[in-house]
Amino acid sequence: MKRSKAVGNGRADGGRQAAAACPCGSQRPYGECCAPLHEGAAASDAAALMRSRYSAYALGREAYVLATWHPSTRPPGLDDAAAPRWLGLQIRNHSATGPDTASVEFVARYRVAGRGARLHEVSRFVREDGRWYYLDGEFPAVGG
Ligand SMILES: [Zn+2]
Repeated sequence: MKRSKAVGNGRADGGRQAAAACPCGSQRPYGECCAPLHEGAAASDAAALMRSRYSAYALGREAYVLATWHPSTRPPGLDDAAAPRWLGLQIRNHSATGPDTASVEFVARYRVAGRGARLHEVSRFVREDGRWYYLDGEFPAVGG
């Protein structure tokens, strides 16, 4: 039997991973937090989708990151070589901007090439057919 090495196939150690703390920082087990979304469940709101996308980045689930990216802004793929090591997520604000639109402000900490850095972004999300998608993001001015 051949075993795929592809990322996104978390079945091999799914049990162990499910009991571990979710990468999104919710303090809940991954199996009860972002895992159901990664397996296809719809996110209850834009903040939940944001968390699940962060977890997907942290776990190398590239397919999920792309699948939850709105088709109008979705890149053809992610640049694996530039992938940082994600250290933590803090959601600062989540607000509905319309019946099917929302924005989520967050700070994600990561390490790349041995240096710690922060990504501060206000992301826009849109809901279509009951599913939330990441649309795009703005970067608030540093020190503003
Ligand atoms: Zn989570």
